[in-house]
Amino acid sequence: MAKIAMKTPLVEMDGDEMTRILWKMIKDELLLPFIDLKTEYYDLGLEHRNETDDQVTVDSANATLKYGVAVKCATITPNAARMTEYNLKEMWKSPNATIRAILDGTVFRAPILVKGIVPYVANWKKPITIARHAYGDVYKNVEIKVPGAGKAELVFTGEDGTEIREVIHNFNGSGIIQGIHNTDKSISSFARACFGYAIDTKQDLWFATKDTISKKYDHNFKDIFQEIYDKEYKAKFEELGIEYFYTLIDDAVARVIRSDGGFIWACKNYDGDVMSDMVATAYGDLSMMTSVLVSPNGAYEYEAAHGTVQRHYYKHLKGEETSTNSIATIFAWTGALKKRGELDQIPELVAFAEKLEKACVKTVEDGKMTKSLSLISTCEHPVILNSLDFIKAIRETLESLL
Ligand code: NAP
Ligand code: MG
Repeated sequence: MAKIAMKTPLVEMDGDEMTRILWKMIKDELLLPFIDLKTEYYDLGLEHRNETDDQVTVDSANATLKYGVAVKCATITPNAARMTEYNLKEMWKSPNATIRAILDGTVFRAPILVKGIVPYVANWKKPITIARHAYGDVYKNVEIKVPGAGKAELVFTGEDGTEIREVIHNFNGSGIIQGIHNTDKSISSFARACFGYAIDTKQDLWFATKDTISKKYDHNFKDIFQEIYDKEYKAKFEELGIEYFYTLIDDAVARVIRSDGGFIWACKNYDGDVMSDMVATAYGDLSMMTSVLVSPNGAYEYEAAHGTVQRHYYKHLKGEETSTNSIATIFAWTGALKKRGELDQIPELVAFAEKLEKACVKTVEDGKMTKSLSLISTCEHPVILNSLDFIKAIRETLESLL
């Protein structure tokens, strides 16, 4: 069979630890034998980020704006332990936060449903898609560790010199303060991405914040959503028979648990970070969650929702066998290939990516899976495979589908 040709390169963002190992296996076993793969490669592994003073992350995000489609491997977000482990010059920011800030997009995450893996929430029958606002708030914060007594103030100085000033707190002793921000522009494009995606996928859209407590900050999100909905999307929603509704975040959490799924839950940045992990786990496994960052200027970045699976990597380094689930990382590739195929009008590429997704699902439904999946599967006699053999089993299924 001739390899499928590509026109525009994908922006390939390599990453860290176990997912970096899977990345290579996926390319070698599932992509390179079938596609004349064109990528512009950026090594976002922590060592290379450190060598380039994190410039490689910025370059990869700019390349995504240029070409339109990126696929990203999970990466380490440095913390104190990583500073020593990798002998870092600086505690570099989360690559995802840097990329999101440059693309100013919205992240949509949805579980991959497989027969035999039953959600923990018994009434969840359909996937819940979480839309995470990908800009600002605590991810772009400025923090001060207050050394002792004194006055903390919030000051805005307008370009014309006018000043707005609020006292945050009069400290009697040491403490902490944090400044966060968002912009009406980013909130508006978040709202539009969510309304647009709801229309594309014909699903209801839920949105929630803590506007009763945060009467200006969170309330601003609520107002912008409502205004844009009323002006630009209400008619289309009514025509399709789908609904937009706003509620308090506490109420949303309760309703989500009681629902049967099949809607988009729009979340502020932090809520989306936390709730997507909860929703993914409740659907089965974080390794069965897809993720795509959609930027308002039409760029897409696909990745897995999970991290670098550090514990498995340390086992791998010790020469022990690992059974790490590569499905979400494979779906990052298939998402990117499908989008590239759509944009460049290469139907074979789209069809290949769809078959690869089908092969992942079918392999698990046929009883071949990784250890973590076997623990949550109702399959009676699952065949538990190691990381590479699982990918090879998917290849076998794929070849039978091609
Ligand atoms: P993690 O890599 O998501 O893994 C947490 C645990 O979940 C694993 O130890 C494993 O459980 C299970 N797990 C996750 N993915 C799995 C898979 N594909 N197959 C099988 N099991 C899987 O989170 P973490 O250990 O908290 O974070 C590790 C690093 O990832 C951190 O440095 C963090 O900064 C980074 N991170 C990156 C991203 C990203 O780039 N998008 C997102 C989150 C975290 P068991 O060990 O029990 O088997
Ligand atoms: Mg998270």
